[in-house]
Amino acid sequence: MTSDAQRYTLPDGGPSIVDLPKISLHDHLDGGLRPATVIELADAGGVAVPADEPEALRSWFAEQADSGSLVEYLKTFDLTTAVMQTAPALERVAREFVEDLLADGVIYGEVRWAPEQHLAGGLSLDDAVEAVQRGIDEAVDRANGAILVGQLVTAMRHADRGREIAELAVRHRDRGVVGFDIAGAEDGFLPSRHRAAFDYLASEYMPVTVHAGEAAGLESIRSALLDGRALRLGHGVRIFEDIALESAADGSARATLGPLATWVRDREIPLELSPSSNLQTGAIAAWGDDIADHPFDVLYQLGFRVTVNTDNRLMSGTTLSRELALLAQTFGYELTDLAEFQMNAALGAFLPLDERESLIETIAAAYAEE
Ligand SMILES: [Zn+2]
Repeated sequence: MTSDAQRYTLPDGGPSIVDLPKISLHDHLDGGLRPATVIELADAGGVAVPADEPEALRSWFAEQADSGSLVEYLKTFDLTTAVMQTAPALERVAREFVEDLLADGVIYGEVRWAPEQHLAGGLSLDDAVEAVQRGIDEAVDRANGAILVGQLVTAMRHADRGREIAELAVRHRDRGVVGFDIAGAEDGFLPSRHRAAFDYLASEYMPVTVHAGEAAGLESIRSALLDGRALRLGHGVRIFEDIALESAADGSARATLGPLATWVRDREIPLELSPSSNLQTGAIAAWGDDIADHPFDVLYQLGFRVTVNTDNRLMSGTTLSRELALLAQTFGYELTDLAEFQMNAALGAFLPLDERESLIETIAAAYAEE
């Protein structure tokens, strides 16, 4: 067990969170590289790096990501995507990505990435998806059933390749792709821009999640649900804008949900919340600048289907275990709360029902044992 593993415990002790089975639904491939790999791939590909030593590069990513602006945060991806332009590089990054999930105790992960950003070296969209799948398969095979991983194929929302990427996702659905996503600059680029892609995906019964409610508010969430038919919301944290909290005479808080928040809660649409990332990108800036200001706990207490995610492990210097530990320390969560977050993620996973049920059984058994 590493020292990291020992640090990630609940406030009242108990098992290491690393050793508990977990599910990761929102985790970007180009946000989860190992610094040493970035350096090696950059050397091989003639890409300039801001630091030559892995630890110094790790710090550079963390500092850039702490800027408080989504646009600044996204700039770090210029470097990671630059070193992921060949099939061997994509394969390696995907393999290591899965190995790192496994080391963190993740039993099911969905890895998202935008193939259209990986064509500069001459790869086709299909080549790129296949290279990533090879890397995933290698690591999954080696893990002997300890982890299952699905690809989420992402289209960039400011670009115009939505329909093409949707077709790519459907083409690879029996070869590792489990769903579709749109990402990139959210503000000013509503999901409705990609309505044709979403119509096509719906006609093919392809599961969709949409980044919404991160850098834009309710209009974006509304469009994700109505135009995108999103089954989950990528972050979705700004659904909190549709919730009014009042203090009652007895000091307790009373929440009034608007129609959109009511829909998201009552229909149990999973929120892919990413505490550290939400703080760093300014997604929760309206409510404060500390994890304690994150609406996570209010959403959880109100019955929203909250899930915990890393978003970008490299940029945020985090792991799923670390995010769970942060929340537990901030809001006083116990093992039963952590189990519920994992159940929520299992229920929202883009897997067939029998596989979701198997995840649920694994989690129920493991958390009950502790
Ligand atoms: Zn994301």
